[in-house]
Amino acid sequence: MARFIFITGGVVSSLGKGLMAASLAALLQARGYKVRIRKFDPYLNVDPGTMSPYQHGEVYVTDDGAETDLDLGHYERFTGVSAHQSDNVTSGRIYQTIITKERRGDYLGATVQVIPHVTDAIKDFAKADLGDLDFVICEIGGTVGDIESLPFMEAIRQLRNELGRGQSISVHTTLVPYIAAAGELKTKPTQHSVRELTSLGIQPEVLVCRCEHPLPDSERAKIAAFCNVRKSAVIPALDASSIYAVPLTYHAVGLDDEVLKAFGIEGAAAPDLTKWEDINDALENPEGEVTIGVVGKYVGLQDAYKSLNEALVHGGIANRVKVHIKWIDAEVFEGDDSELASQLEPMHAILVPGAFGERGAEGKIAAVRFARERNVPYFGICFGMQMACIEEARAAGIEGASSTEFGETPEPVVGLITEWMSEEGIQKREEGGDLGGTMRLGAYEAKLDGNSRVASIYGKTTISERHRHRYEVNTHYVEPLEKGGLVFSGMSPDGQLPEIVERPDHDWFVGVQFHPELKSRPFDPHPLFASFIEAAVKQSRLV
Ligand code: GLN
Repeated sequence: MARFIFITGGVVSSLGKGLMAASLAALLQARGYKVRIRKFDPYLNVDPGTMSPYQHGEVYVTDDGAETDLDLGHYERFTGVSAHQSDNVTSGRIYQTIITKERRGDYLGATVQVIPHVTDAIKDFAKADLGDLDFVICEIGGTVGDIESLPFMEAIRQLRNELGRGQSISVHTTLVPYIAAAGELKTKPTQHSVRELTSLGIQPEVLVCRCEHPLPDSERAKIAAFCNVRKSAVIPALDASSIYAVPLTYHAVGLDDEVLKAFGIEGAAAPDLTKWEDINDALENPEGEVTIGVVGKYVGLQDAYKSLNEALVHGGIANRVKVHIKWIDAEVFEGDDSELASQLEPMHAILVPGAFGERGAEGKIAAVRFARERNVPYFGICFGMQMACIEEARAAGIEGASSTEFGETPEPVVGLITEWMSEEGIQKREEGGDLGGTMRLGAYEAKLDGNSRVASIYGKTTISERHRHRYEVNTHYVEPLEKGGLVFSGMSPDGQLPEIVERPDHDWFVGVQFHPELKSRPFDPHPLFASFIEAAVKQSRLV
């Protein structure tokens, strides 16, 4: 039977709970255990798919087509375990399920209440599809004391009681702030936060204390005494040099040891951390550096492109170079070509990532033109592929080439997909339909042309990649675009949907309709990112 680890946070948000959960999972895995991580989000959106990347960061898409919290990306990158729809749930989804059942009459006249109906639904979610797992790590979003997280806390309390002794633990993350004027670390916020948690019936076994200065022994002892936790289980968590150093730093301060001890597990195998040491060695001792210009829309908030950022770092690990990312707001290129040269000339490669809406589109098309004309490595992802096709269409003399995403156009080089095949059969969409959960989502296969650059990069001709888009390059334009030198080297298995375009006459120019960044992992960098960074390294020798 799987053991449960419940992770909560207190004092403030942004304490890196997700990274802690992912690191703990990696450490348990390194000891040979089978682990899965789940995220409970207390907000009322059914999923984060309709939330602005400005507010909520990236929407992470799973193979089975769920739009989930970006923490699931960390989980996958750290554990290599692909997340499922069933690994992320929000209050919105729980209520939606319950209300649908209530309308159907499934509750047979009962009054439907938070306790037991909502809490039962949360418990069912936590316990679903566990298979032969050793540990399930459940991270609760938000901060202890939030009104919205109360049903989740209550469900954990009940579940811990039902699971019985030794089957679950609670790990609580808090902040130990440093007051410069007094020159002291303060433990009071941690004490209050643990008191809040225990008042909900949950006594933590392990405390993870984020601090900017080392936590003296005396303060650890004080926290232990006030919070009813073993002193060795008060884990100090200082900032790490990179996120990939976090598993090693948590191991050094005893996190995984304390977790096993709290379960009463003795004599567990020592973790094999070689792959983490190798990654950190590559990150800390690069043999060169490159700068990639990412021309996008949400450049002010890097969480909006979390997986992209990480995939570029992984490409750097594959080539043993440090990757600098310059985030460039596409709008600066609109109507002013001098900006193009001054901003893009110093770049060793250019990337246009996924995006929604018209704002900045013309600037991105200008960046594609610059990359094509100057033979600078170009990688277009989703929207970035669509813009590359529009750019080529205009270069081929198709005036007014555009996307129907931006309104009606006489030349819809990119248009709305209204019908396509998925594993569940034919999918249909219409103009003006629901926005939530209705895109082409999740993993789809593509067939690659055996003679293409991408086939040699992947080393195979059938691939499966994750999608999240509503529009598609229109196959009516394949012929004129190919005449201009853009080759459609990857298509959906039925030949209807363009998946990849590339330019054989260019050093490295690839556009993909999917999101390869979602499948890149530090110890298994995505081949397209490894190859793109390799091209940037070559370019850096020319500049
Ligand atoms: N907005 C475009 C579409 O819906 C591209 C989406 C994306 O880049 N993820 O097709």
